[in-house]
Amino acid sequence: MRFGYRVRRYDLREPLVEKLVCNGFAHLEWDWRWSGDGYSPVPSVEELNYAKDICSQYGLSISIAGPNGISIAEKVVPLRKVSIGLWKEIYLASKFLEAKWLVLELGSAGFKSEDSAKKRERVSIAKDAIGDIIQNTEDGPLLLIENMRKLPEGSLKCYLGDDATDLLYCIDGLVDRCGLIFDTGHALIGENPEQCFNLLKSSIKAFHVHTNNRISDIHRALTREDISVNGDYWTSVINLIHLGVPAVLEIDSLSAALQTKQLITEYRS
Ligand SMILES: [Zn+2]
Repeated sequence: MRFGYRVRRYDLREPLVEKLVCNGFAHLEWDWRWSGDGYSPVPSVEELNYAKDICSQYGLSISIAGPNGISIAEKVVPLRKVSIGLWKEIYLASKFLEAKWLVLELGSAGFKSEDSAKKRERVSIAKDAIGDIIQNTEDGPLLLIENMRKLPEGSLKCYLGDDATDLLYCIDGLVDRCGLIFDTGHALIGENPEQCFNLLKSSIKAFHVHTNNRISDIHRALTREDISVNGDYWTSVINLIHLGVPAVLEIDSLSAALQTKQLITEYRS
């Protein structure tokens, strides 16, 4: 089993890294989530070098969760060009870090999730952009697309990537450089998480692990009770983690994350 921990961009410091290694983590996912501060979404060369040095010093592999809010499926063409340009920079920076993968969310759109034709049209725009980003760079990290949660019925917006068939369509033909990162919490905020998992299973290259009340994306730790309530779902997820698919714990409290890690490690179906 290979466990990773999600660390936010400005929280990457030596004491935390040391603690992760002491607690058996082998991987760190560095989250470049947009803080809204107006600076570039791509860390400076100093910041990148710091991360690279500290991970190699402690023997951790690294992956990047790319910033949100920079949509490659943007409808307005000149804006989309800017977004794709930024993602090319983000991809190059991930390559510089020798990251195992870069996580990309497809972004949101201003129509209902049930409008599958419109959704597919925008996913198709994203698919072209992804091809453009990876082909621009030789031998870069895997680009992993994340499944998104379904917004409540009646919501006038939706997340692109809230549907398993759209995700498979998005990476079709790009399989050697692309794949899926399965977010266990996002899938639970949908009608049938197990069906979603089974459809995507063969394309899953890594996990984001956390859970919720199936309504809000609260990113909490996993308990025995969660497993007993959605037994088939969690058993399938945990079996794949036991087979070696890396699991990044997206749980803010490290002590809660450690309980989840222990639970998964000891779980036998
Ligand atoms: Zn996630």
